[in-house]
Parts: sequence; C-alpha cells; structure tokens
Amino acid sequence: MSEGIITMAYIIASILFILALGGLSNQETARKGNYYGMAGMAIALVATIAGIVTGNYLLMLGCITLGGLVGFILAKKVEMTQMPELVAILHSLVGLAAILVGFGTYLDHSVEFTGAELTIHNVEIYLGVLIGALTFSGSVFAYLKLSAKIGGKPLTLPGRHFFNLILLIAAVYFLFAFIGADSSDAGLNFLIIMTGISLLFGIHMVMAIGGADMPVVVSMLNSYSGWAAAATGFMLSNDLLIVIGALVGSSGAILSYIMCRAMNRKFLAVIAGGFGTSSGGDSGQASQGDAGDVQSIDAESVALLLNGAKKVMILPGYGMAVAQAQHSVFEMSRKLREQGVEVGFGIHPVAGRMPGHMNVLLAEARVPYDIVFEMDEINEDFPNVDVSIVIGANDIVNPAAQEEPNSPIAGMPVLEPWLGKTTVVLKRSMASGYAGVDNPLFYKENTRMLFGDAKVSIDDVLKNL
Ligand code: NDP
Repeated sequence: MSEGIITMAYIIASILFILALGGLSNQETARKGNYYGMAGMAIALVATIAGIVTGNYLLMLGCITLGGLVGFILAKKVEMTQMPELVAILHSLVGLAAILVGFGTYLDHSVEFTGAELTIHNVEIYLGVLIGALTFSGSVFAYLKLSAKIGGKPLTLPGRHFFNLILLIAAVYFLFAFIGADSSDAGLNFLIIMTGISLLFGIHMVMAIGGADMPVVVSMLNSYSGWAAAATGFMLSNDLLIVIGALVGSSGAILSYIMCRAMNRKFLAVIAGGFGTSSGGDSGQASQGDAGDVQSIDAESVALLLNGAKKVMILPGYGMAVAQAQHSVFEMSRKLREQGVEVGFGIHPVAGRMPGHMNVLLAEARVPYDIVFEMDEINEDFPNVDVSIVIGANDIVNPAAQEEPNSPIAGMPVLEPWLGKTTVVLKRSMASGYAGVDNPLFYKENTRMLFGDAKVSIDDVLKNL
C-alpha cells in the first residue's frame, strides 16, 4: 500500500474518531458515535496491517485472533455491574502496551540515532514507559478496588506527599542518567529502575484514594491511557496513534474536570495527587444506623402514594445496576405517565460506578431521553415533587454532604429529594454506600424505606399500581 493511501486512511480514521467523540457526548447520537468509532478503528487496523507491517504476519494474525477472541468472550460474558472494572482493566492493557513498546524500541538497534535525535528518541521512550507503567499499575489497582477484591479504604501513609515527591525526583534523576548512559546495558538498567518507580507511584496514587473520590481517578486513568497511547505513537513514529492518544488523553482530562466539578474537588489538587485523605469506609459493607429508627413501608402503600401523586422523580443509583431493575423501572414510569403523572429521572454525575453508568442503563431500558435530567436541571424542582423514588442510590442523595462539614463527602453536590413531599428509598438493608458513610436521609420525617432487592420491590409496586 502506498504511503499516500496510508496517510489518507489515517486522516479518514482520525475524522471518524472525532465524529465518534462528538456522537458520544449526547445520548441520542451515542449509537451513531459508536459506529463511527468502529469504522475508524477498522480502517486504522487495515491501513496499518496492510501498509506498515512488513513481516511476522503469522505471529501478528495469531495475536490478533487470540486478543479478539478474549475481547469477544469478555464482552459477551460481562455483567452490566462489572463494566467499570472491565473499563479499568482495559486501561491497564494500554499502559502495558506502552511499557512493552518502550522496551522493544529501546532494544531495537535497527535504526541508529545520533546527537539530538538520539536524545529526543530516548526521552520519548522514557516518558512512554513512565506514563505506561503508572497507567498499568494504577488501573490494575483501580480494578481491584472497584471489584471489591481489595478494600475501598484510603491508604494514607504518613508523609505520603513527601514520598510522592521523592518518587518524582528519582524519576527525573533517572531520566538524565538514562539519556547520559554510556552503554545500552546501563541505559536498560535505568529504564528498569524507573519502571519500578512509576509502577509504585501508580499503586500509591490509587491506594490513597478514598471513599467517593474514585470516579475522578477512573476518568484520570482513562486520560493517562490516552497519553500512554500517544507516547507509543511517538516511539513508533505513528501519526494516527499520536492523534488518537491525544484525543483520548484530552477528552479524558475534560471528563476528569467535569467529574471534579461534580465532586466539588480541585482539579489541580487531583493532578498533584493531593487528595483522597478523607476517611471513607468499606465499599458498602459498613452497616450503620438501625433499621428500627426508620419508617419502613410496603409495596402496596408505595403504589398508593404514587397513584395520588402529580409529580414523581426517580433517582437511580448503583443498586439499580446491581438489581438490573432498569426495565421494571421503565415499566413503572410508563404506567405512571399513562395515568397522567409527570415523571422525571434525575441523574447524578457520579451515580453508579462509572461516568454515564445510569444513562447507559436507562437507554438500554428505552427510557425516553427527554424525561432524563441532569442533577443541575432538577435540583430546584424538588419542592414541587410529590414522591421521589430513590432506587439503590445512597451517596448521591446524602444530605450529610451539605449538613456535616466533617463528613468525607462534605461539599459534594447531591440530589435533594428531602425537599419534596415524600421520599421512598429502595434498598436491601441499612448498609452504607460506596463512600462508607451513614445517610441521614433515611431517618428524615418524610422518608419511607422499602427494603428488598430493587427489582423485586419495583415489580411488587407495579402489581399494585
Ligand atoms: P452507592 O454505592 O452510594 O449506594 C448504592 C446503594 O445501593 C447501597 O447503599 C446498597 O444498599 C444499594 N443496593 C445494592 N444492591 C442493591 C439491590 N440489589 N437492590 C436494592 N438496593 C441495592 O451508589 P450511588 O450510585 O448512590 O453513588 C455512587 C458512589 O460510587 C459514589 O460514592 C461515587 O463517588 C462512587 N463511584 C462512582 C464512580 C462513577 O464514575 N460514577 C466510580 C467509582 C465510584 P444495600 O446494600 O442496603 O442494598
């Protein structure tokens, strides 16, 4: 394939990726966005395989088949609740690829560089491996945290900022040692030492994140994986990889900024790793409060409440994903709307376990987009709401964020259903949410608790409507 055709294919693929990102920014165009992305990736792959790869076809096809098969099986098997973990572990693969390409490029002596070119080449390798290693270990530990294979409590080592600073200084020191190395063996040793430092930094960064701060880290790792891909592009002199990496890196950074705003955290403090000192608890295991102190309700009475309501707001959270209740929730909203009740869905930016988690579930259940609102759009409406139904949500409706300055989630904007007439909370027990903090909403005068699995509860309510 001629160079001109490859360049053309790369430009078309880049445009398709930009269109994909544009499409994904809106629910109505998200499906189209995905198709653009798939088409872009197919063109990019064909152009690279046919135009750039020059040998080892058998090995490459074997690897593509194996990787494709693993991806296919994973995508078929993964439960909706495991999506955040899957995304995190996939980010780790981008990091791993950057490390391997970095070492591979350093050990490949087929092209000899000299002078300034050699320095630039080595800096590219060093930065690529550095970002890759930190993305890799950070993502693996994010995966372990999100899948509750390790505890959610933040690891706050004494002098941890000082520790980070030492790691940074060491990484800079070894950069100069690496560039100035007089033999490739010495250089390799410096590269290996830096990889160790960077892996440690990634682990420490994620382990220090506590309670409700994880969403920011998930989107930051998304951004890092983009920069790791861009660094790989520089090492391989592949323009398309640089463009895609920069797109993912910058869109991930913008998403991190949006998540920071949603969590009321400072973006710069996040970048510096200087956050997460809050004392969040176990991921949903801590059981605080007593079910005896709250007012419980049965499905029949909830149906009665709903039948008498003019305006109903549904507030879904992580528990809706666990219970896979979205289809029943949609049925309930459809039935209520048929009866002339005004129904809306309120989505908190960090509801669930990944950005857009609730939107994906509601779209899957075919909830019309025009009744799905962002938190900012509906928070002022709550005084006019007759019944708010909180479905498996906890941290995102926790008034402690506003009322208790010492709470680990203090300052985080939350949905405010308690300002409405009645709130019904659907959950299985009095257990806390991801941040591990008690929720005063459950004890409010106008709150009723409907205990049980969210899907079973909604189906019961539906029967009685
Ligand atoms: P929470 O984790 O705060 O609460 C979920 C609640 O759902 C739990 O209290 C649980 O209570 C209940 N639940 C679980 N399973 C079921 C079920 N089958 N039926 C009914 N209820 C169930 O979720 P939120 O969505 O309110 O908040 C999200 C939290 O996750 C925030 O702290 C956010 O920072 C964090 N996070 C968000 C990410 C993102 O990108 N969106 C990424 C990582 C973390 P019980 O056990 O009693 O049923």
